[in-house]
Amino acid sequence: MRSDAFDAYAGARLTIDLDAIVANYLAIAARVAPARTAAVVKADAYGLGATKVAAALADAGCRDFFVAMLGEALELGPTLPAEARLYVLNGLPPGAEQACAQAGLRPVLNSLAQARRWAQAARAAGRRLPAAVQVDSGMSRLGLSAEDVEQLAADRGFFADVDVALVMSHLACADTPDAPANARQLSTFNALAERLAPGAPRSLANSGGSFASAAFHGDLVRPGIALYGGDPLAQGGSGLRDVVTLEVRVVQVRTVPAGAGVGYGLTYVAGEERRIATLGMGYADGWPRRLGGKAAAYWRGVRLPMVGRISMDSIGLDVTDLADGELAEGDLVELIGPHQPLQAVADMAETITYEILTSLGRRFERVYRPSTYRGGQGQ
Ligand SMILES: *Cc1c(COP(=O)(O)O)cnc(C)c1O
Repeated sequence: MRSDAFDAYAGARLTIDLDAIVANYLAIAARVAPARTAAVVKADAYGLGATKVAAALADAGCRDFFVAMLGEALELGPTLPAEARLYVLNGLPPGAEQACAQAGLRPVLNSLAQARRWAQAARAAGRRLPAAVQVDSGMSRLGLSAEDVEQLAADRGFFADVDVALVMSHLACADTPDAPANARQLSTFNALAERLAPGAPRSLANSGGSFASAAFHGDLVRPGIALYGGDPLAQGGSGLRDVVTLEVRVVQVRTVPAGAGVGYGLTYVAGEERRIATLGMGYADGWPRRLGGKAAAYWRGVRLPMVGRISMDSIGLDVTDLADGELAEGDLVELIGPHQPLQAVADMAETITYEILTSLGRRFERVYRPSTYRGGQGQ
């Protein structure tokens, strides 16, 4: 948390709607039931604040959480309800077995070496330890190969030491439901899961997979981006609520004559007299430099184009369309919101909503709209 003074003088305000995150979670949970719905809160909940996001989701009944790194799990774990399950997607780093076991975390075992080390840790601890086992169903990123699955399936000692709480895999093309790779991965996954641990719960679907048919949902779905308002489907239309609003303060407004250049390299030159506002954020705050001259800001619904290069801490904005004095130092203009949604920003930057969200910096005033949902029973 930043100090109050830092917030009061911040160049920009990021508003995170926890109520919308919970609504998105509950919409997915209703869609995939009776499968359970986990929450992926890696990378600080895609930049939005893992502790706050996870607390709101736990209040709404979420009991399964995923982060990527063990360090993230060690920080988040103590803030979760005691009965919550916290999985570490990137697995078990060598030497981390004891720390992982002591903290009650569940590594996603991605290799035979990790599986053996976790079993050894269980023997050392004198108790069975829970874990997820990941199999590679065709993405070639993390998880056991078919040969590895054969070897582990034959290792009865492993199953005596390790409680396989989940067999999981990950879809490479989940944003495109019709991609033939999805059906191939589903059948490979089910075959490998059957071979490894026939009775264990299964999990294959991320956000996109949660919008695919029920066959993809298994026992537990693992949405991330959909919780945070990013549309998981390439063609859009998943009907989720927007979560993030980004507003930036005007630092200065000036009138420049015809021929004046704006910003580094003077790449924008005013063709006539223009009014230029300078905004208090830049690429150091995660606003992509490649959006210079492409994106806009909005003031009371009026589109104001960004001009010139994006600086580290500032952005030039052409505000000539506003009346003189209408926009003043300290005013907040919209950069991500109803007029310029997250998806539009990602499209202009030729990237994905995930990258925009996870790049958003640490210099913003952060305002959390509370979740109004209470009384989740746990699932
Ligand atoms: C990041 C991640 C997810 C969540 O993906 P989204 O596309 O954000 O829903 C789920 N599973 C695994 C293994 C992941 O790495």
